[in-house]
Amino acid sequence: MLNKNKIIKIGLIASLMVLVVVCALVFSKKDGKVKLNPNTDSKVLSTWDMDMTPQKKDIASWQSFVKKDDVIYIVDDERIFKWDYKSVGFRPACDDPACEHNGEECPAYFPNTRYYGVTYYNDHWVFVEKGENNRYYLGYCDFDGNNRKRVIDISDDIQGTGPLVHMDFVNGYIYMGYNSSVIHEKDSDGSGGLEFESAVRTCLMKYDVSLIGSGKDYSQNIFLLDVVKGEVVQLSSVVDEERFVVDVPETRSLKGWVPYMDYRIYNQEDKSFVTVRDVHALHILPNGRYTAMTKDGLILVDGDKTIRLDGENWADHFYDDNRIYATNMQERDIAIADKNAVIPDGEVRVYDYDGNLVDHIYMPKDCGEWDMLAAYDGRYYFTCVDIKTRSYFYVYDTQNPDKGWKKINREY
Ligand SMILES: [Zn+2]
Repeated sequence: MLNKNKIIKIGLIASLMVLVVVCALVFSKKDGKVKLNPNTDSKVLSTWDMDMTPQKKDIASWQSFVKKDDVIYIVDDERIFKWDYKSVGFRPACDDPACEHNGEECPAYFPNTRYYGVTYYNDHWVFVEKGENNRYYLGYCDFDGNNRKRVIDISDDIQGTGPLVHMDFVNGYIYMGYNSSVIHEKDSDGSGGLEFESAVRTCLMKYDVSLIGSGKDYSQNIFLLDVVKGEVVQLSSVVDEERFVVDVPETRSLKGWVPYMDYRIYNQEDKSFVTVRDVHALHILPNGRYTAMTKDGLILVDGDKTIRLDGENWADHFYDDNRIYATNMQERDIAIADKNAVIPDGEVRVYDYDGNLVDHIYMPKDCGEWDMLAAYDGRYYFTCVDIKTRSYFYVYDTQNPDKGWKKINREY
């Protein structure tokens, strides 16, 4: 199953391949060491005028979806798409019929060579923009994609090549996590020559944008880890101001092709952590809870209480205030990879926080191997845009179950 972490990981592997070439260029250009700057000297370029008051999410998903009036907005394939409930197609959120949606003039276009982590928040899109001279800026724009504004230069917060950024919004703060690759000067061995080594970096920043321009410190480095010749440490989404989660790749073991490893739930303040052993994925949920995919099944941990929600290879895709949405897509992927196995139907099971099953539907028969799922209005489910073809998604109305899943094609 391709959850957010895996999407980040796949992207990172691709960018690390590019990095080999880029590193060679860096070495040939610079004769000095590439310094890591632990302090931020980011510059304020503008004001942060958008409302950061926390608001209820309309859509439950790990990804960036928005519901506004009767329209769903989806960030996918470098563009913002829109789909209204009644139409049979979805298209770029740009109303110019002559526009080809692939240039600067298109407000729906956010090319991934320039924009990172484009995420909806309170009627705006927040993003990291890569500008000239490899500088990075935290900024935002109007909901229609216009008035893109760089607010702070965060180049010193986001070092390295090919950063893969994701953002979370908690209590009005912006959490920005990224994986990147950086180059260190190696510890001197006394021979006098300069030596370098590359490291994979995992970093979590927190921004209090209400303090931008006030002279107070608006940025805080929560976590910074460089692993030399190591593996990618991944951050899970941040959901509160107390905790964050990273995996520990060196503890990995495989069962079939499914990796299990330790995860650490850190305290943001003092960096103390608890270790949860031998899990495939771990997501923190509000109010101190978390879910984990273990070899014994999908579990919900709430204080001293552990509730087993579902079997092995069931994943929790996302949650909202009342519900946890689990699917068997990984179980299904494993069966698809095995020629002799019977492929189970795709299922969604919805649990409340006491572990009671409150809803249960089957996925469309031909749902894409990499499809994801979202839910909205407490009534609809939809698969995310198929990652392979990007040409369709499905929607399902629980109040009209006889109509089944309706296919929504891309009209562009
Ligand atoms: Zn356009």
